Amino acid sequence: MLEPRNHWADTSEEVFTAHALDDHISADIIIVGGGFTGCSAALEVAKSGVKVVLIEAHGIGHGGSGRNVGLVNAGLWLPPDDIVSRIGKADGERLITSLSRAPKDVFDLINNYQIQCNAVQNGTVHCAHSASGFEDLIQRHSQWKALGAPVDLLGAQETQNLIGTRLYYGALWDHRAGTIQPLAYCRGLARAAVAQGAKVFEHSPVLSVKKNQALWQAVTQHGSVNAPKILFCTNAYQDNIHQEPRAKTTIVNYFQAVTDTISDDQWVNILVQGQGCWDTASIMTSLRKSVDKRLILGAMGAPVGLGRSLHLNWAKRKLKSLFPLLVDVSLEAFWFGEIAISNDYIPKIQSLGAQRYEIFGFSGRGIGPGTVLGTAMAKYLMTEDEAYLPMPITKEYSDRSRAGKTLFFETASRAFHFVKR
Ligand SMILES: Cc1cc2nc3c(=O)[nH]c(=O)nc-3n(C[C@H](O)[C@H](O)[C@H](O)COP(=O)(O)OP(=O)(O)OC[C@H]3O[C@@H](n4cnc5c(N)ncnc54)[C@H](O)[C@@H]3O)c2cc1C
Repeated sequence: MLEPRNHWADTSEEVFTAHALDDHISADIIIVGGGFTGCSAALEVAKSGVKVVLIEAHGIGHGGSGRNVGLVNAGLWLPPDDIVSRIGKADGERLITSLSRAPKDVFDLINNYQIQCNAVQNGTVHCAHSASGFEDLIQRHSQWKALGAPVDLLGAQETQNLIGTRLYYGALWDHRAGTIQPLAYCRGLARAAVAQGAKVFEHSPVLSVKKNQALWQAVTQHGSVNAPKILFCTNAYQDNIHQEPRAKTTIVNYFQAVTDTISDDQWVNILVQGQGCWDTASIMTSLRKSVDKRLILGAMGAPVGLGRSLHLNWAKRKLKSLFPLLVDVSLEAFWFGEIAISNDYIPKIQSLGAQRYEIFGFSGRGIGPGTVLGTAMAKYLMTEDEAYLPMPITKEYSDRSRAGKTLFFETASRAFHFVKR
């Protein structure tokens, strides 16, 4: 029976547990939020011998990081020229250069700390769902090529050979990228941070943040941490913190459904070389394999209430239309998460008062960018040298239309999944 269950939690080789905070302690830096951003920041600080405490409301990877597709992509959702046109040439090029290397940074951490997360760096594939989608990929290909990136544009037949379906008009294969088991990666980062000396507390929601002279105090139900510097990495998942907004971005829901095991003869004809892929549709679909021989299909939408049958029935139809030979394959489990979309689709480092910062708004691409920004911000916090940051620190951020856009995305994905195959 198809049931709500996160396949990454069922299959993670990395296990991580930590106690709740039940004491009043101090540190040099407090990090709130144990996803890719907070854990990579904690690791970087701890590596330098500086005292860091990471506080997580639930378990490590509870947020987007543990619900992710696992596509470790370079850059952002926006093609390079759009980044430059939104934030200017100097800042745009600095960010693009840094995020082009993001998959390498992720895979290096995985290797250095022996993180058991089924990492494979053999590229990811962006598939054109329409002729106009292919036009978009042609533009992306030429922009990345101009920057010297190892990307290939595939025609319809080559795409069919690689993905195993006739549905796509072509594809862009980015060889910098790859796939991971995202929850295992996140837990591995937390494990490495603790091994380097970080203190990590789980099941300890920060309820309020106070300023006592030069010190920030993060208060939980049974304890508190004092430090001169504090970094929030709570992104779309910010729990109630006294007088703080829950999320300051548009939220897009994204669900994934995992099949039962696929027979060997069918397995070899789907995603033939093992890459993960996603398509160019506005209500996008993603597809990847898991190490235990299942397919994981993802799409925008929250499978709850009315949306449950609507999105999941679409997922069954979509799988059949992609791979008509999968007649006897059924979906076993599904889960979903919330994606924080910033007002210009570019992540933000925001200053929230003296030595208090927040990183958010990854807009659906957070494995590479979360790791890069978390690591860079850790270096900045220890040195106050902005040269470590791939982007300037923002002082003001707001998106007044976020509630309307959040509603629009869920409504549009329901309408799309109601009518589409
Ligand atoms: C379904 C889905 C699929 C995605 N697929 C991809 C993909 O394939 N590739 C990619 O690059 N990106 C993908 N993304 C985006 C990516 O997962 C996110 O950008 C990334 O996980 C953000 O990491 P983070 O550490 O900033 O935040 P999160 O992982 O969301 O972590 C925030 C943490 O803060 C904690 N927290 C919140 N409030 C408090 C509090 N008061 N006290 C203490 N802790 C608190 C939460 O419990 C949570 O664990 C996907 C996102 C989703 C939701």
